[in-house]
Amino acid sequence: MKNCWEIKGCSGSLRDSCVVYIEGMAPVTGGVNCWDYLKCEETKRNNCCAYQQRRGQDCWKVTSTLCEGITILEFKDKMKLCRKCEFFVKHAKKS
Ligand code: SF4
Ligand code: SF4
Repeated sequence: MKNCWEIKGCSGSLRDSCVVYIEGMAPVTGGVNCWDYLKCEETKRNNCCAYQQRRGQDCWKVTSTLCEGITILEFKDKMKLCRKCEFFVKHAKKS
């Protein structure tokens, strides 16, 4: 079955910042969490919603993480950050 972005020809930054597309990216971290991979220091991780929700293996789907020291509320803005992140590049895989 085709995905909506394939049927509609949706691509590039429009597709890449869409929550539907991102939600289809399965984590393939092999059990590694972002806070360990990126050596996120304890105080920061304790205050981060990804850590609090134990979403270290698909943190790119969680808005308001503290990776840059501030919370980014808009999903599309957060994805601009995630797309440049080594953890995301290495571990997010479109299913
Ligand atoms: S999402 Fe970012 S700030 Fe939050 S625990 Fe993971 S690496 Fe740390
Ligand atoms: S920038 Fe995105 S992918 Fe990277 S650790 Fe933070 S939330 Fe996860």
